[in-house]
Amino acid sequence: MSSLLSYLPAAARARLRVLDTFTEHEGAPAPDDAAPSGAAPGGGVSLQTPLQPEPRAACDRCVMVPVHPDRDPGAPWAFDDGLRCCTHHPAVPNFLVGRTLMRGGPGVERVRARLATPASVSAWGIRAPPDRPADTHTLELRFGRDPDLLCPFWTGGALACGIWPERTASCRTWFCKHERGFDGAQRWWRLGDLLSALERALGRFCVDVGAAPESDATTDQWLDWYRWCAARVDEFDHADAERLDLSSCEAPRQRLVALRVRPRSMPAVLVPAISALHEHAGGVLIAGYSSYDAVLAPRAIFAFLALLDGTCPWREALARTTRERPDPRAAAPGLAHLDEALIRELYRIGALEPASQT
Ligand code: SF4
Ligand code: SF4
Repeated sequence: MSSLLSYLPAAARARLRVLDTFTEHEGAPAPDDAAPSGAAPGGGVSLQTPLQPEPRAACDRCVMVPVHPDRDPGAPWAFDDGLRCCTHHPAVPNFLVGRTLMRGGPGVERVRARLATPASVSAWGIRAPPDRPADTHTLELRFGRDPDLLCPFWTGGALACGIWPERTASCRTWFCKHERGFDGAQRWWRLGDLLSALERALGRFCVDVGAAPESDATTDQWLDWYRWCAARVDEFDHADAERLDLSSCEAPRQRLVALRVRPRSMPAVLVPAISALHEHAGGVLIAGYSSYDAVLAPRAIFAFLALLDGTCPWREALARTTRERPDPRAAAPGLAHLDEALIRELYRIGALEPASQT
């Protein structure tokens, strides 16, 4: 069983069998044209699905912070170095708060500081206060950039998370970039939905079986309660698991199982499916499934895209573009090249898709 999932009790995971089909990644990613590992015949999540590593999201030197020449050049879709993707308030269930307290370290002080603001502190755990923006559009504009959204458990520095071993599914399964583009992102998102539902169920279980303090409890009473929850979940067994209300896990479980994985071999005919563009000194940034995973292309890409009419094979369009409209800057160091590797990248992020999908 993957260590990524082992923060949740084995007996609870066993009730959601699909979780036990995920394993640690073993070996190198599949070659580009190979069948996607984890794709069951006919699609879907197979038994022994490896959890895909995401080396493009190199958090130790955050690739979303624009420092040339090594890091992502994605401004204005770039993040602030002091915020990164931690402009998020996770909903931390009681037992994970308790584990943080028992582990000790900088997370304890962060939990205490968060409890000083009682909004959304409860027997279930610590949720985001109601004054945080909820709509996706506002969040997308401010995500990674607005210090008002910084996570209360952030400690700063390279290892910025104060509750890292106890972080929730929302943090465990979020990456800015995905080795397999939208397909990979979907697998993480759906797995995150299911793990979050299980976290919520375990938090509710503790409330049901324990003696939680009243809502106006003191900080010390909350700390004691959360420690108790951690100890209770540590001894969680199969009898407990049978009592777990997993009704809210069923819909995300079904969505995870039903995931279909797009073939990785590129079809001969592609059409544009661009969601956003941004002018950049090195060319143009092109987004497909997410602006966080945008790809830098030379401006000659527009001539190439104009040829993708749903019948012209992309290799023919590429040959015509590079023959008829060579980009004078394409060969300059540090600038994007219009070549097959770039087209594969645009396909990876979903900015190009099979003609038959439209
Ligand atoms: S996942 Fe977050 S910290 Fe890691 S590279 Fe992406 S934005 Fe930076
Ligand atoms: S819990 Fe940790 S990883 Fe998650 S948003 Fe907060 S600081 Fe970042």
